[in-house]
Amino acid sequence: MSWITIVWSMNAAACLTLAGIYLLVWCKQRQNWAHLLFSFTAVATAAIAAFELAMMHAETIGQYEALLRWIHVPVWVLVISFVSFVRLYLHAGRRWLAWSICCLRTLVLILNFVFTPNLNFRHITSLRQFSWGGGEIISVPVGVANPWGLLSSVSLLLLLIFFVDATITVWRRGDRRRALVVGGSMIFGAILAWHVPLVIWGIIDIPFFLCFTYSGIVAAMAYELSYDVLHAAQLARQLQASEAELRETEQRMQLAASAAELGMWMWDIARNEIWITDKGRALFGFAPSEKLDFDRFRSALHPEDRESVHQAVENSLRTGAEYESEYRAVLPDGEVRWIAGRGHVEFNGDGQPVRMRGASVDITKRKQAEELAARQRNEMAHLSRVTMLGELSGSIAHELNLPLTAILCNAQAAQRILANGQVDRTELREILNEVISENKRACEVIRRLRLWLKKGEARQDSVRINKVVQDVLKLIHSDLVNQKVIVNCELARNLPAVTGDPVQLQQVLVNLVVNACDAMADCNTPERRLLIRTGTGNGNGNGAVLVSVTDRGGSIPEEKMEQIFEPFFTTKAKGMGLGLSVCHSIIAVHRGKLWATNNADCGATFHFSLPIGIRGTAVPISSNGQLDDHA
Ligand code: ADP
Repeated sequence: MSWITIVWSMNAAACLTLAGIYLLVWCKQRQNWAHLLFSFTAVATAAIAAFELAMMHAETIGQYEALLRWIHVPVWVLVISFVSFVRLYLHAGRRWLAWSICCLRTLVLILNFVFTPNLNFRHITSLRQFSWGGGEIISVPVGVANPWGLLSSVSLLLLLIFFVDATITVWRRGDRRRALVVGGSMIFGAILAWHVPLVIWGIIDIPFFLCFTYSGIVAAMAYELSYDVLHAAQLARQLQASEAELRETEQRMQLAASAAELGMWMWDIARNEIWITDKGRALFGFAPSEKLDFDRFRSALHPEDRESVHQAVENSLRTGAEYESEYRAVLPDGEVRWIAGRGHVEFNGDGQPVRMRGASVDITKRKQAEELAARQRNEMAHLSRVTMLGELSGSIAHELNLPLTAILCNAQAAQRILANGQVDRTELREILNEVISENKRACEVIRRLRLWLKKGEARQDSVRINKVVQDVLKLIHSDLVNQKVIVNCELARNLPAVTGDPVQLQQVLVNLVVNACDAMADCNTPERRLLIRTGTGNGNGNGAVLVSVTDRGGSIPEEKMEQIFEPFFTTKAKGMGLGLSVCHSIIAVHRGKLWATNNADCGATFHFSLPIGIRGTAVPISSNGQLDDHA
C-alpha cells in the first residue's frame, strides 16, 4: 500500500472519528445543533476522500465518470454545511450571498445528474495513468470540459467571497481567534479548491485533493467547537462548585434559622401561594401538608391584629418598603402567640410585585417581658404620684376647702333669707347658682385627684401639651400660692398633638415644677419666678413638641447633670430621689427625651421633648374614656 492510499484513508478515518465524536456530543446536548452540522461536514469530507481515492484507482472511464458524478453529493452537503455554520454559529456572512451559494450549488447538483456523464465533462476521452509523488499509479481524466461546469466555479468563487466577508465581520466584532482559525482556514480551503477546475480544464495534471482542502476547515471547526465544549465543561465544573457552595450556604442558613427559631416563608403573589418552612408551620399551627395562601395566613391571626397586618403588607406592596409587623397568632388549640414578621417584596420589570420573602419569629416571651416591665413602670409611676400627692395634700385640701367654704357660706345665707320670711327669689336663685358652680369646682378637684390616683396601664391618647400644662397649674395652684411662686407661661399656639398618657405627662410636669419650687426655696431666692414654655423643635431628628421649666434656684453641678436622673439620687433631706428617674422613664416610653441645663444667670431649666404623632411603646389597653377631654 502506497502513501497515497494511507494518507487519503487516514484523512477519511480522522474525519469519520470527529464526526462520530460530535454526533455523540450532539446526542447528549440536542439543543447544540452546531455539533450535528459539524458531523455532517466531517462525514461529507470523509466521503469526498473515499471518492477521490476511488477515482485515483479507477480503471475504466465509465467508473471514473460515475464517481465524478456522485462526488457532487458530499460536496453539496459540505457547501451547505459550511454556509450554515458561518451564518448560524459565527453569526456572520451576508444572507443573500448565503442563499445564492445554496441555490447555485443545488442547481449544480441537479444539472450534474441531468448531464451525461456529469457537469464537469462533456465526455472523458481517456484516463492518464502515472505514478504521483513516488506513490502508486493513479488515474487522471482527460477529456472535453462541460461549459456548464462554470456554474460550479462561480459557486466556488461566491463561497470564497462569502468566507472573506464573514471573516472580516467576525474580526471587526473583536472575535479575533475565531476569525483567524475558522475564517482563515475557510478562505485558505476555498482558494485551494480552485485546483479542481484547473485539473478539469487540463491546466494542471494532478489528482483531486479536495478532501484535504476541506479537512483543514473541518479541523479548524473541530478546534473551535472543542474550545466551546471545554469552556462548557469548565462552566459545568464552576457551576458544580457554586452549587455545592449554595447547598452549604443553604444548610448554614437553615441551621441559623432553626437556631434563631425563625420560620422562613415565601409568598408567590401572582399565584397566591405561600411556601413556609416546617418551623414556620409549627409557629402558626399550620398542618404539615396544608396548602397555604394569604387568606389562610390571615385567618390564623388574632382578629384585632388582622387589619394592621393587612395594612403593613399593602404598604410594602405599594411602596416596596420592608414589611415589618408584630401581631398575635391564634393557634388551633386557642393558644395566643406573639409573632414578629419581616419581609421584602420583589418586583418584576413592569414594577408589579411578584413575590415576598421573609421570616417570622416567636416574640411571645419578649412581649410578656415588655408587658411586665410596662406594668412595673406604671406601678412605679403610680406610687410616685401617690407620694407626690402626699406632699401636695395641704394645697389640695385648700383647693377643696375653697369651694366647700363657699358652698357653706351660700347655704347659710339662704337659710338667713328664708328665716327673714321675705324670700327674694332672684337673690335665692343667685345663691343656688353659686352653690352649683362651687360644687362643680369641688367635683373637678376630686375628679383630677381620682385620675391622678387611678392605677392602670399607660394610655395612648392624642394629647395637647398646653392642656397638660394648664391642668397641672390648676392641680398645684394652692401650693404655688403658698410658696409665693409666680408662674409665667409662654405657650406656643397651635401646637401639634402628641401621643401618650395625659396623667403620666402631667406627673412629669408636676415633678419638674415641684423640684423647681424646692430649688428656689432651698436657696432663698428673693424672686421665686417660674417660667413654663412650650414650642416645637427637633427630637431625635424628627418633629417634636418641646416643654421646658425654668427656675431661679441653685444650679446643678455639671458632673451631676446625668446623675440626677438616676434612681435614689437626692440632695434633699427628705427626698427619695425617685422623681426624676420616674420622669425619665415616662418620657423614654413616650419616645421622647428629658434633660437639664443650667441657666446663664441663675437656676436650672428642665426640658423634655415628645415626638409628634408617634406612638410610644406602652402597651395599648382599652380605655374607659375618662380622659377624653385631653384629646
Ligand atoms: P427628689 O426630689 O426626691 O430629690 P428627684 O429625682 O426629683 O428626687 O431629684 C433628684 C435631684 O435632682 C434633687 O435632689 C436635686 O438635687 C436635683 N434637682 C432636681 N430638680 C432640680 C432643680 N430644678 N434645680 C436644681 N436641682 C434639681
